[in-house]
Amino acid sequence: MRRIITILVVVLLFALLVIESPKVYATETGEKVVYLTFDDGPTKGVTEDILDELQRLNIKGTFFVVGKEIIDKEDILKRMYDEGHGIGLHTYTHNYNKVYSSVDTFVEEMKKTADFINEVLQQDANIKYIRFPGGSSGRLNQEFYDALKAQGYNIFDWNVNLEDGVKPNATVYELVENAKKSRDDVDRKIILAHCNLNNKNTVTAINGIYEYYTNQGYEFKAITNETLEYYYSFKK
Ligand SMILES: [Zn+2]
Repeated sequence: MRRIITILVVVLLFALLVIESPKVYATETGEKVVYLTFDDGPTKGVTEDILDELQRLNIKGTFFVVGKEIIDKEDILKRMYDEGHGIGLHTYTHNYNKVYSSVDTFVEEMKKTADFINEVLQQDANIKYIRFPGGSSGRLNQEFYDALKAQGYNIFDWNVNLEDGVKPNATVYELVENAKKSRDDVDRKIILAHCNLNNKNTVTAINGIYEYYTNQGYEFKAITNETLEYYYSFKK
């Protein structure tokens, strides 16, 4: 009897451990890496200026592109790819009502964007990293998670926010200061920035962000399919 109780206790403790352990996110890899990410493009002018600046500094960034924005800007997408930057999926329409209407719609929007990218690049780029419009917080749940994993997608939120999306008129100084603040102590920084038409100061802030992180021993890298994902924990 005592043995049975012991076994039951062990099983119960193990079950609790499994249930309580958080999903993999904010994982420390021991590397000081910065992933500078730009959402919502490609945009004529703005995205091209950012590409010029990344080229000047000889660093790689990642662009979470909106499928419909690629239309008539195929050359910018090709340039991102040719210059070795990451290209992630950020839905096709970026219409919150539509993309969050169902899990199936959300996945379809990502697939449609990936197909369009493959068509433009004339190859199977096999992109498997995505970002939720507005971030996954309050949106990602087990149903979304399972559907995204069935597609092999990795999810990327951020732990540093330039706030150029909510405050497009922020000064370069403010943007760089925002880039120094992180929501966690993880040595893997994922910086959220944008390349919409109204993000005029973002490109000018890149140099300050570069200097700050380089001085602290960080390396700028592009997100790839192999990059460990980072997303906010969600209620099950
Ligand atoms: Zn967005």
